[in-house]
Amino acid sequence: METKAIKFKSVQSMYFNKQTIVFLDGDFIKATSAKASVYNQTMHYGNGVFEGIRSYDTPDGTRIFKAKEHFDRLHHSAEKMHIKLEYSSEELERLTYKLLEKNNLTDAYIRPLVYLGENMSLTKTDVVHLAIVAWKWGNYLGDEMLNLMLSSFERPNPKSCFMDAKVVGHYTNSILATTEAKQKGYDEALLTDMNGFVAEGPGANFFFEKDGKFVTAPLGNILPGITRATVFEIAKELGFEVEERFFKPEELKTADAAFFCGTATEVTGIKKLDEYTFPMKWDDSNSQLIQRAYKRKVACNEHENLYI
Ligand code: PMP
Repeated sequence: METKAIKFKSVQSMYFNKQTIVFLDGDFIKATSAKASVYNQTMHYGNGVFEGIRSYDTPDGTRIFKAKEHFDRLHHSAEKMHIKLEYSSEELERLTYKLLEKNNLTDAYIRPLVYLGENMSLTKTDVVHLAIVAWKWGNYLGDEMLNLMLSSFERPNPKSCFMDAKVVGHYTNSILATTEAKQKGYDEALLTDMNGFVAEGPGANFFFEKDGKFVTAPLGNILPGITRATVFEIAKELGFEVEERFFKPEELKTADAAFFCGTATEVTGIKKLDEYTFPMKWDDSNSQLIQRAYKRKVACNEHENLYI
């Protein structure tokens, strides 16, 4: 029987166009000519690591927010997964600035992806590829307050993987949780850990506010968010207390306000969790002050940039 070759038409992409440049394995090339082997281990088994970073158009020019922290975390994630990343954090930062310049991007979302060579075994892979792509992306969860669903999925048990590493395969859990929430008419999910304590969202850390103070899950079962750390800094600057401790979803029914934070999400207020509406008006909350201070910090380059 004659087999008909199926040709995939190039589809319109929201991430790139014909002019877009990406960095791939040492070269700046057109996004339309970037290729990867279909035998790569990342595609088959999820063994790869990545980062989600933002740059902002600041009064000092285009600045990547907390570049060192992000590229250091990329190294940490790679190490945990036995992946040898040949570029230093400083080199990665310089390459990313070049990429932004080549694409005339100022406010951008930046995605470095470390993916692996051909290996269909469940063993470590020595061939390592690096792609860096960037595109203009608004706030990931939008600008409205969110309706959350307490997910039926749990975050992965830290005994099954490294929860402090940003590993490609971990995001199947996130996709399941977000899809479930959206199918049920919610904006996003909130997940518990393996002990039933509130952990984080599919792509963001979670804080709640009670009597002017903040509570968030401790490190261990969550991704140590760079935005989470920035929220700690801001809270300190503003004189707000932050407590890191385990808490059950039921406790949230006594909370005044809540928010998600992450690089893509920035600081986004939460209106409801299932049937419970957070009672405090967002504009009266300390959460809103954190949100405003975060916006100022990133947009005004109020952070030391180590390499430039
Ligand atoms: N948790 C998860 C699961 C995430 O994917 C992210 C986004 N990287 C975060 C938290 C927030 O991390 P960050 O502030 O470093 O972007």
